Amino acid sequence: MKRLVILGAGTAGTMMAHKMSRKLPASEWEITVIDKSENHYYQPGLIFVPFQLYGYNGTKGNVRKTRDLLPKEVNFVQTEITQLVPEGNRVETPSGTFEYDWLILALGCRIAPEEVPGLEEGYGKNVFYFYTYPSALDMQRALADFDGGKLVLNIAEYPIKCPVAPIEFICLADYYFQQRGIRHKVDLEVVTSVQGLFTKPVAGSILGEMIRKKGIKVTPGFSPAEVDSEHGKIISHDGKEVHFDFLASIPPNVGPQVIDDAGLGNGNGYAMTHSHTLKSQKFDNIYVIGDCTNVGTSKAGSVAHFEAGVIEKNLLREISGQTPQPDFDGHSNCFIETGFKKAHLIDFNYTQEPIPGRFPLPTFGPFALLKETRLNHRGKLFFRWFYWNILLSDRVDLEMFLPTQMSYLGKDMSYVTK
Ligand SMILES: Cc1cc2nc3c(=O)[nH]c(=O)nc-3n(C[C@H](O)[C@H](O)[C@H](O)COP(=O)(O)OP(=O)(O)OC[C@H]3O[C@@H](n4cnc5c(N)ncnc54)[C@H](O)[C@@H]3O)c2cc1C
Repeated sequence: MKRLVILGAGTAGTMMAHKMSRKLPASEWEITVIDKSENHYYQPGLIFVPFQLYGYNGTKGNVRKTRDLLPKEVNFVQTEITQLVPEGNRVETPSGTFEYDWLILALGCRIAPEEVPGLEEGYGKNVFYFYTYPSALDMQRALADFDGGKLVLNIAEYPIKCPVAPIEFICLADYYFQQRGIRHKVDLEVVTSVQGLFTKPVAGSILGEMIRKKGIKVTPGFSPAEVDSEHGKIISHDGKEVHFDFLASIPPNVGPQVIDDAGLGNGNGYAMTHSHTLKSQKFDNIYVIGDCTNVGTSKAGSVAHFEAGVIEKNLLREISGQTPQPDFDGHSNCFIETGFKKAHLIDFNYTQEPIPGRFPLPTFGPFALLKETRLNHRGKLFFRWFYWNILLSDRVDLEMFLPTQMSYLGKDMSYVTK
C-alpha cells in the first residue's frame, strides 16, 4: 500500500483530498489528512462580520465540521503536527507517527500579533483584528460602541492572506458609518508598509481613485515598530507617528513554524516552492499548496483552487514515472467588496497585472473587471455557497469558467503591455 499524507484540511488540503481520492485507486493508496482543527471556517466572510453586513453576524453559515467536508474514503486525524522529518518521510504528532511516500503541505498561515510590540497589550481596548472569527466578533462589538473619532487600518507588513482584504475593510467601514449616519464624525485612514493600497499600476490607480473619492486617507511606506495603545498611536521604525482612536490591525502573517524547523521554509514559515511546478525546492516527494507556499502570487482560496489542478496533474504524472510540468502561472481571481452593494473583480497572474474588461467571457461577461458593479457584489455573496458546495469538493469541472491558466478572453487589450 502506498501512502499520501496531506497536512492541513483548510481550503487547499480539502480540495487536494477530493482530487486525489478520486484519482488514486483505494486498493493501492491510503490517503491520510491531518489537521488540528475540528472546524473549517469560511475566511472570505471575515470582512463582513465586523460590520454585521449581509447577514454575516457571526459564525452562522461560515463554519462546518472539517471531517464532514472531506471525502469519506480518506482517513482524517485531528491532531497537531509537531514535527516534519522529510529525510525520514514521516510526520510526528501527539497521535502518532505518519509515514508517507508523497506529502502535500497545505498548512496555511496565521496572524502573529506578538511580532509588533504593544499590539497584544492594546487588544480589546482600542486595538482589534478581524483575520479570525473570535477577533472579528470582538471588533464587531467594539465598532457598535464607536461613535466617532479616528479609525486607522494598519497593515503591518506583507505578504498577508487576501491582499485585497484591507481595501474591502476600509470601503465597508465607510459604508457602515454612512449607514449609521455618523460618517461625518469618523476619520478613516489606511497606514500601510508598502507604497499604496494596491501596488500594481493599473489597479492601483483605479482603486486609489475610488478610495480618494470616499474621503479615506492613505499613508504609505509606514512600517510599524510599536503600538502605544495607551496614547493611541502607532510608531514607525523611522520615528513617525500616526494617532488613532480605534486601530483595526492586520498583524504580520507567518507560515507554520514546523515548516521552518524541518528546513523546508524561508525563515517566515513559508515553504520554499517552485513557482510553476509547485514542488518543494528542498525535497522531491513534497508538493506545497495554498497560503503556506512562498510563490509570488496572492494568498487566496482562488489561487489554491488553480494550484490544486496543477498539483493533481503533476503528482499523477510523477506517480506514473513522468516529469512534472511547469503549469502554474500564478493565476489569481478575487472579488473586491466596496460597499453600497457593489464590488470590483480582478483576474491576473505572475506576469499580467489586473486590468479592466469582462469576465469570464468577452462582451457578455457577466462580471466586470476593475469596475464597481452590483453583479460583482452578488457574485461575492454567491461565492460562499459556491465554496461549500462546489469549490472544496471539486465536484464540477470549472475549467471553462475558471481556467487554471489565466485567460486573456474579455480583457481590455489596450492595457496589456507586451
Ligand atoms: C479576511 C480574509 C478574507 C479573505 N477573502 C478571500 C476572498 O475573498 N477570496 C479568496 O479566494 N480568498 C480569500 N481569503 C483567503 C483564503 O481564505 C485563504 O487563502 C485560503 O483559506 C488558504 O487555504 P489554505 O488551505 O492554504 O489555508 P487554510 O484554509 O488556512 O488551512 C490551513 C489549515 O492548516 C491547519 N494547520 C496549520 N498548522 C497546523 C499544525 N501545526 N497542525 C495541524 N494543523 C495545522 C489549520 O488548522 C488549517 O485548517 C481571505 C482570507 C482572510 C483572512
